[in-house]
Amino acid sequence: MASSRTILVAGAGIGGLTAALALARKGFRVVIFEQAEELSETGAGIQLSPNATRLLLELDLGDRLRPQVVMPEHLSIRRARTGAEIARMRLGAGIEFRYGAPYWIIHRGDLQAALRDAVSANPDIVLRLGTRVEDFAIHQNGVTVQTRQRDHVGDERAVALIGADGLWSRTRAAAGDRSKPRFSGRTAWRATVQTSVMPEIFRGPAVHLWLGRNAHLVHYPVRAGSLINIVAIVNDTWQGEDWSAPGASDDLMGHFGKLSWGDTARGVLQAPGSWLKWALFDRPPLRRRGQGSMTLLGDAAHPMLPFLAQGAAMAIEDAMVLADCLASGRDDIPRALRTYEALRRGRTARVQRAARFTGELYQLAGPLALARNTVLARMGSEKLRSRYDWLYDWRRL
Ligand SMILES: Cc1cc2nc3c(=O)[nH]c(=O)nc-3n(C[C@H](O)[C@H](O)[C@H](O)COP(=O)(O)OP(=O)(O)OC[C@H]3O[C@@H](n4cnc5c(N)ncnc54)[C@H](O)[C@@H]3O)c2cc1C
Repeated sequence: MASSRTILVAGAGIGGLTAALALARKGFRVVIFEQAEELSETGAGIQLSPNATRLLLELDLGDRLRPQVVMPEHLSIRRARTGAEIARMRLGAGIEFRYGAPYWIIHRGDLQAALRDAVSANPDIVLRLGTRVEDFAIHQNGVTVQTRQRDHVGDERAVALIGADGLWSRTRAAAGDRSKPRFSGRTAWRATVQTSVMPEIFRGPAVHLWLGRNAHLVHYPVRAGSLINIVAIVNDTWQGEDWSAPGASDDLMGHFGKLSWGDTARGVLQAPGSWLKWALFDRPPLRRRGQGSMTLLGDAAHPMLPFLAQGAAMAIEDAMVLADCLASGRDDIPRALRTYEALRRGRTARVQRAARFTGELYQLAGPLALARNTVLARMGSEKLRSRYDWLYDWRRL
């Protein structure tokens, strides 16, 4: 018989760890299975908009996160060829005032470490590293999950299973959706450099976004301002599943030719000694996220392109709504999970679509790019920001 308060989570990414913390606060016992032997520092920068920071602060993670984050003062949108600023959107204290929570930028490893430390300090959460969820079976009283740890196969029973196992989710496949994620035709290249190697104007607390033909570039400080995270997005055919495949600088520079990209942007791209790349995938919105006592969360449910910087934020929102639903519906867990799915469906689908559309907008060329730049320049900071009200001002019911 499953313990009536044990919930199993597949995956200790941002989504799985946040879900465990949120569920433990509601009185559940949580076991997280993570296939990796250790939670390493993989990844680079993540932007955390107020819809996400509000929730992280509610989980009392402020003291763990503040020493690592940077609060950017503005987003500066620049022309690839000249470096001239097209538009500037103020962030900083104004965002906190407007939405009641700050806009932060952070290294993914630092966010994951803060969550992991909070998980380790919580006696109601068990984190099993090196343990892969292979399959599950739903039954009347809950769910039985089959796991593999090296050569050892094990079974665990609980009242619910949360599949938070990312883009290539095995739990999603085991639940019946064997379709493959959709390749976007683009790869993201990432690197971090010491802040001191960047030109003076790019060292401060700001997000810089460069728009060019068939490519764009983003950079901002992380790790309390000591490192600059650089991400270059290019049109590409490489479709590896790895988050950290090595990429050659010469190959990257081939996408940032001198005709379209000026010396300043090319100088930023030449600063890192090495690059890692990952292919960008998403999926169309999902109609049914779960069944019986299992459901999906984060990238497993709704992987999205990174152009709105909302992948982690949506996983965090999912986690909090899920915990609310399970806490108020613990007598009928399948029903509570369907309520969670209904509450999240519209929002995550809208963000998936908006992220895709933003990516198209960023890489326009010719007259369409000119028209985009003119509109952006005319909007002004306040109007630019208010376009994100629906995203940043979100609250739980
Ligand atoms: C290694 C890595 C690096 C990333 N780097 C960046 C970045 O630099 N910038 C950015 O914006 N986003 C990055 N992301 C994506 C971003 O973290 C996610 O989009 C977002 O946080 C949603 O998180 P998630 O928890 O839903 O999924 P993920 O972050 O993908 O986490 C899923 C977790 O599940 C584990 N897992 C998978 N299958 C199983 C299984 N069968 N059993 C047990 N565990 C399993 C994985 O090892 C992983 O830890 C990265 C993701 C990963 C995994």
